[in-house]
Parts: sequence; C-alpha cells; structure tokens
Amino acid sequence: MPFERHTAGALEYYTAPVIEMPHAFTTRLGGVSSGHLESLNLSIRRGDTEENVRENWNRLQKATGLHLEKAVYARQIHSNLVHVATSADAQAPWLEPRFECDGFVTNEPGLPVIIFMADCLPVLLCDKQNGVVAAVHCGWRSSVADILGNAVQKMRSLGAKPEAISAAIGPGIGKCCFEVGPEVVKAAESLLKADISDLVRKGEGDRAFLDLKSVNAKRLEQLGLDPKRIAVSDLCTMCHPDVFWSHRKTNGHRGVQAAIIEI
Ligand SMILES: [Zn+2]
Repeated sequence: MPFERHTAGALEYYTAPVIEMPHAFTTRLGGVSSGHLESLNLSIRRGDTEENVRENWNRLQKATGLHLEKAVYARQIHSNLVHVATSADAQAPWLEPRFECDGFVTNEPGLPVIIFMADCLPVLLCDKQNGVVAAVHCGWRSSVADILGNAVQKMRSLGAKPEAISAAIGPGIGKCCFEVGPEVVKAAESLLKADISDLVRKGEGDRAFLDLKSVNAKRLEQLGLDPKRIAVSDLCTMCHPDVFWSHRKTNGHRGVQAAIIEI
C-alpha cells in the first residue's frame, strides 16, 4: 500500500493508510526556519530559535490535526531503548527533551509520541484493536540492536498482539544511497539470523549498499507481524534533499523531520 502525500499551503507531510491511528511523517517543507534549517525544522537542538520551532509545530498541528501542544520525545542516542510513555512525560515539543532513548510506546489516548530523523528510518507501529502505538527511530545501530524487538515486546506488555499490529517504515535513506562497511552488513545478518545477500549491493572495495528498510521489514515479520500490514516508503531522503533533510547529503548541516503517532 503506497504512502499518501498531503499538503496544507506550503507544508507537506506523508501518511501510511495501513496505520489506522492519527499520524504523520513530516518533510522539510512549510515552516519558518531559515538558512540550512529551511524550513520545517522541528528540533530545538539544531541551532534554531525556540520561536521558529514553536511556530513550525503550530503549523504542523493546524495541518495534521494531531494534538501537538504536548508530546513525548527524546534526545536520540542510536540505542535500542524504548520507553513506555504516559501523560506525565509530556511537554511542549519545542523544549529540550527529557528522555534519552530511541523509541516510545503508549496506550494513552491523545498523547503523541515523536521521533526525529534525517536519513535514519522512522517506524510507526499501531495496534488499533488493542489501543497501543509506537514510534521508533531506526538508524542502523538501533536496528541491529533489535530496537523493533524491544518495541513490539513493550507493545505486548500493554496488550498488543503482533498479528494485530500494522507498521509503516517511512521516508529514510534507501538502498540506492546507504553505503556501509562490511561490519554493518554482518550486524544486520546477525540480527535476522539469515542470509541477506538479496538486500546488499556491492560497492567499491569492501563497501556495500544495504537495504535497511527491508532489513527492518523482515525483522517485523520475524516478530509476528503480517507482511500485508507492513508498508515501506520508497522515498529516499538522500535522493530528495529538496523535500527531506539528509544527514549524509548535508554533512550534518541540517534540521530534522519527525514521525508522530497518537491514539
Ligand atoms: Zn537514495
């Protein structure tokens, strides 16, 4: 099932119809930030002003209808740590984060959980039937440390059932651009305990191009999700620097987009 692109004035974001709860994958378009943060930068931690970041969140709230006055989000550390979020954890999303982790799970209605990215893969999970959602930041380090395994386990602890969970792997660096060393391929292989030669294209010397989106999709299948309920965006952040921030394309001079979900 393809992702859907939405526009509200200059602001653009994506949703995945497989996710049956309010959610969004943002782009860099439609905000007020300038310079290398032009324009919908959503983090106070990239050198932006609080005023700009707050206005960007306000615009996103108007465009999406998500309840973004208060949300749960973290300083992300490429770990496999997933936190079960409650309303006591929430604060305005333009403030300094209160947590250090790379994923959130919640079963509280009206509580958006957010992860930030600029090449790393955003993964949103949703069990509508049992009322549990998750947002997970899947760079390669978190992916091979099985952050998705932790997220699904924490969803189960709140009553979710793997066969009832839908997943969307949003815009992020694609197999066209994600060049890695052999240690990353090896780590992905150990995660899946399977031959992944179909997900690897040879690069120069010992370098390779890894299809990290498919690695994560396979992991979700191993965790019990129905492959028909896993949507994967074919949009590559590095191939589309006009629409998305890419850490690799900009050598780190960039803002961040976000993936958000709430019940
Ligand atoms: Zn690409």
